[in-house]
Amino acid sequence: MLGKRGAPCPHPWAALHRAGLINRVLAPSNRRLFGDRCPPISLSCFQTPRRIPYSEAIGQEFRPAKVGDSFGPTWETCWFKVELSIPPAWAGREVHFVWESDGEGMVWRDAQPVQGLTKEGEKTSYILTRSMKEPEPHSLTLYVELACNGLFGAGKGSMIAPPDPDRRFTLSKAELVVFNRDVYELLMDLEILLDMAQLLGEENQRSFQALYTANQMVNVCDVMDPSTFPAARDLAAAIFSQRNGESQHTIHAVGHCHIDSAWLWPYEETIRKCARSWVTVVRLMECNPELTFACSQAQQFEWVRSWYPGLYAQVQDFVAKGQFVPVGGTWVEMDGNLPSGESMVRQFLQGQRFFQEQFGRICSEFWLPDTFGYSAQLPQLMRGCGIRRFLTQKLSWNLVNAFPHHTFFWEGIDGSRVLTHFPPGDSYGMHGRVEEMLKTVKNNKDKGRVNHSAFLFGFGDGGGGPTQKMLDRMKRMTDTDGLPRVQISTPDRLFSALEKESSQLCTWVGELFLELHNGTYTTQAQIKKGNRECERILHDVEVLSTLAVARGGAFQYPASQLQRLWRLLLLNQFHDVLPGSCIQLVVEDALQYYAEIRRAGARLQEEAVQSLCRELLQPKAGNTESTLVLNTLPWERTEVISRTGPAGTETLGMSNLGVAHIPEFLTGAETTNKEILCLSLPWGGFTDVRFLLWTLSYFKLSLNCVPGGCCANQFALFDDVPLYWDAWDVMDYHLETRKPVTTLLKPLEITLAGGLRGSASFSLQIGESSTLTQEIILDATCPYLRFLTQVEWKEAHKFLKVEFPVQVRSTNATYEIQFGHLQRPTHWNTSWDWARFEVWAHKWLDLSEHGFGVALLNDCKYGASAHGNILSLSLLRAPKSPDAMADITHHQFTYAVMPHLGSFQDAGVIQCAYNLNFPLHVVPASSARCPPWSAFSVSSPAVVLETVKQASPRGRTVVVRLYEAHGSTLVAWLQTSLPVQEAVLCDLLERPAAQGRLPLEQRGLRLSFTPFRVLSILLVLRQ
Ligand SMILES: [Zn+2]
Repeated sequence: MLGKRGAPCPHPWAALHRAGLINRVLAPSNRRLFGDRCPPISLSCFQTPRRIPYSEAIGQEFRPAKVGDSFGPTWETCWFKVELSIPPAWAGREVHFVWESDGEGMVWRDAQPVQGLTKEGEKTSYILTRSMKEPEPHSLTLYVELACNGLFGAGKGSMIAPPDPDRRFTLSKAELVVFNRDVYELLMDLEILLDMAQLLGEENQRSFQALYTANQMVNVCDVMDPSTFPAARDLAAAIFSQRNGESQHTIHAVGHCHIDSAWLWPYEETIRKCARSWVTVVRLMECNPELTFACSQAQQFEWVRSWYPGLYAQVQDFVAKGQFVPVGGTWVEMDGNLPSGESMVRQFLQGQRFFQEQFGRICSEFWLPDTFGYSAQLPQLMRGCGIRRFLTQKLSWNLVNAFPHHTFFWEGIDGSRVLTHFPPGDSYGMHGRVEEMLKTVKNNKDKGRVNHSAFLFGFGDGGGGPTQKMLDRMKRMTDTDGLPRVQISTPDRLFSALEKESSQLCTWVGELFLELHNGTYTTQAQIKKGNRECERILHDVEVLSTLAVARGGAFQYPASQLQRLWRLLLLNQFHDVLPGSCIQLVVEDALQYYAEIRRAGARLQEEAVQSLCRELLQPKAGNTESTLVLNTLPWERTEVISRTGPAGTETLGMSNLGVAHIPEFLTGAETTNKEILCLSLPWGGFTDVRFLLWTLSYFKLSLNCVPGGCCANQFALFDDVPLYWDAWDVMDYHLETRKPVTTLLKPLEITLAGGLRGSASFSLQIGESSTLTQEIILDATCPYLRFLTQVEWKEAHKFLKVEFPVQVRSTNATYEIQFGHLQRPTHWNTSWDWARFEVWAHKWLDLSEHGFGVALLNDCKYGASAHGNILSLSLLRAPKSPDAMADITHHQFTYAVMPHLGSFQDAGVIQCAYNLNFPLHVVPASSARCPPWSAFSVSSPAVVLETVKQASPRGRTVVVRLYEAHGSTLVAWLQTSLPVQEAVLCDLLERPAAQGRLPLEQRGLRLSFTPFRVLSILLVLRQ
């Protein structure tokens, strides 16, 4: 087809000519990439099941090893000692140490990590010298630390399958080679030209020009004669330097390496992944001063700082030069749906503080490219943390609807807006290829509105990062007619360009819902429970410790312990841990971290309570035994509590299955059991339990909440077999397999017959081998019916839900999210509606019509749905990948149903859900009765005082955070009995606002709210 010195035939051309050129020049040139070779003088190894430091490793006994040997099993580490001697005849040549093996390698030289090596990440060379000089030492010793896992762990059979515990890892190459860079450059030229020829299309003359140029290059070039290469390269340079017109699209290429903080490998391996990836980036930056690299997750910086101080110092240098660019502002790239509002604030607070301390500046972009949906509260939280820009791409994974924008303003539930960009190539792991550049331009849904887009290049997920090849491809595409302009850029330069062009951009209001991975609201229920419980524990420790400090005495706020515990909690919110899409090893680590927070949190809480209530807890002569109750929520609570008396008394009573019977049950309730007490409590206070108050006023409902013929609290089991992403996905077709759970193991039995508390219990058989036991509890004064549930869960690919059909008609249901709520449809009119067949909520969801509604509360569940008039709570799943044992264990959780008159706001659903999640603290005391004491009160039930903590690093300054929870505009007064001398509004990073001083008035602090506004205030206390 294409003879030497001949003209190419016009048709059919591209594929055939490309193949011809590959045969004639690429294949032989590839063989010529490496010249002379030389084996190491000696190779020895030592293997360990632990991840140990270099200093420990080199003191071990190394045994002889050879190429072809295999090592393992999975998760072990092999340390290789490699003695090398470069032949003097290679003077003037570029010499590489080539290492090819399974597993992930790190080269150490002179006690420092110098190069990450992974076949999967196209990194198999450590460059010893660019041009071997005579005085350089020809002999050296390297160590290679080889982790027995791949970039993507060790899945057996498929990437996301549970790890194969017995995998072996083979060393296939270890040698010195002469690298022929001129051959490499020629190959890069030809690759770009051939891609242009093939991808620009027959209608584009540039594709023909590229093909003809490649053909001419082959004609002038003799692969055996390097002196012919320059002429060939000149031909390529000529076409690459033909410029675009001014209108051409600009691609901002930014080096990147998405490293999941734990996923198909444990946290500990991620520490090494960071080091392997970043040291490689540092090496590339030394040779490519233009290279930029966007790097997120303060936790990963902290890991490298602690474990690799030498490497960290180099990273700091490149941060100072503006090449290594910290982004994101958060502690980890967290899940975007499930963390509480306060947790999300702490992600930014811990992250931005770290970046400020370490690098002298906070991040200006939120960076969350791989997370499974984005809460509609995030724009306000970003703005409160010094961020106006957001980058992600995950919505390109939507299964049903294509998201209509790549660059747009995203507006949250409070009206805050952030400039948002999805790289139009729909990836954060580009390789700098022509194809990807063309896709980026073609795919961009905001053509005409903006002419700049991001292009994140580098191996990712399991680490890896950019390669020299990626950079060299893009150097050739800087400004080449027919291709988009490609600049190595930074997130700041990209967003600055987009901001200039933003006048025509569209706005997307509300959540960025990912139409995929909706099983992650439910998978790994123990992790979900750990998250919710530990959020509560840290909240309570902060409240009680702050009050203990404010009340005086020697109590020290446990700032550093709290920081440590918060960081553990935030780490577990990583976007493959809290969603439950990780391997068993990660689950074990996560549960251990939660156990640590529970343990240390209980101790800190005990210390704070001891200090706060000290004189009331100390026995005094003549005092009778009493009980103190502490309330960490900002409103009065009237609740039945149980305390364990001398005889170990527990609550006793009865209740009835079904919402409709609540009023009948309550008739005739009496105080019969002295150990069951009912209190009216002020916020932040405590009182003597002999003040008994109780009321049934909430229960003046005469409506039947459940439609005739329907059963509430109905368990249903579904087949749950996703297409691929087992732990992640629940597909809409699971809904067709619904089977009501009806097999009673133990019929309903009254366990407490009345008085202040009534309860009943029963057991069910679920599926073939699982069982469920439930205690249904109704307390006097409590407007909701609680379901204490225990499940022995041994299923495979099943999905357990509980359903409440309710006598309510509404086209929208309301779901609690971070610091607020939003509505989603109860119908499936459009594809956007039915794609949300499974959604997430925090502590409650509600279906209301005018004047009446039913809310479903929970203490650790997140998956939910409301279709028609059925409210469902998703309880348990049983995926088998990547953790074959996911959720196969004992579970305990509580949910509650709350019928109400009026709106959910007026009925106090929000407060009730808090009450369910934040039980009163009941402390035995030996004190005389004391008057109730309240630290804070808020004048409006629409405003929730969520957070009370010490500001850091300010000694006697308290931060309080409040939000408007009803979706209303109002003025509220915050009153406090703390000795406040000054109050200043601040942002979420606790930085005082300009003109933020609040006057201290008789009624307290006057606060103006708009719907869902979050306000933080610094309260400076008198000494
Ligand atoms: Zn990820």
